[in-house]
Amino acid sequence: MTNPQVVTTAAELEKWSTECRQKGEKLVIVPTMGNLHEGHLALVNEAKKHGDRVVVSIFVNPTQFLEGEDFERYPRTLEADIDALSDARVDVVFVPSVDEVYPEGSEEETISAGPIGDVLEGAIRPGHFDAVVTVCKRLFETSHADVAVFGEKDAEQLFLVRQMAQTLTSPVRIVGVPTVRDHDGLALSSRNSYLTKDDRKAALALPHFLKALEQRVNHGDELRAAVSAAQLELAGDSAIELDYLESVNPDTFEPSGESDSQALILGAITVGGTRLIDNRLVHLPR
Ligand code: AMP
Repeated sequence: MTNPQVVTTAAELEKWSTECRQKGEKLVIVPTMGNLHEGHLALVNEAKKHGDRVVVSIFVNPTQFLEGEDFERYPRTLEADIDALSDARVDVVFVPSVDEVYPEGSEEETISAGPIGDVLEGAIRPGHFDAVVTVCKRLFETSHADVAVFGEKDAEQLFLVRQMAQTLTSPVRIVGVPTVRDHDGLALSSRNSYLTKDDRKAALALPHFLKALEQRVNHGDELRAAVSAAQLELAGDSAIELDYLESVNPDTFEPSGESDSQALILGAITVGGTRLIDNRLVHLPR
């Protein structure tokens, strides 16, 4: 077990990354909000395959939480996180303060996530993705990372960060990692800790219907009909609230079209006040 270097200022991180680059080392960043679980650790493992040094950032970004969301109560478990990252042999854990990420005068530098930032999650959480791409841009610039690793669980985020990364003067390659699930199929999430036993059972409706939808399509059901049927069934489940269940082209995030070869089905539900998201990539018969 090695202790990762815990860095709290942007200046320290820049100094470290400059030294690494001078040695010709390739840097990989894994941005997180902490409360690490196996999903995050899968990202760390993937990160190691793409470079010589891995930095994990832990920052609960206040600007991406809307009024009334769970910023205050978001689980913060820094000590356990650092232990887990030590076991995972990462090089640096970057734990900046809010002032460090948003120094005075930087408020005007918020960037737009573009039109896809306003659909699905973005429609329910206005401004969320602008805040996400802005904080990611800052983390990329401070770390001078060559590669950044994100989870496919947050598929819209992954799409928008990838889009933003292409506009940077120093390009960052974005790598996606498949969703890590619990034994029962529920996608691991820090927010799962809010769920009661009953909530958790009810939450399984989301991965269950996503899987069933894929099976229906594989058995010849038309995509739109299968999505509508799943929407109806989920909306009729009194234990959950369905926020959306939609099908998009994974390459554009535009609604699925007739000639698409794949569909990404994205769903969001609220269970006992907790919002959960999940998605599934479905291959479409030609
Ligand atoms: P968060 O700490 O929730 O902001 O997540 C940090 C990163 O971990 C994001 O790129 C997420 O998509 C990814 N992530 C979260 N949960 C999972 C999961 N169950 N499987 C894979 N990646 C995940």
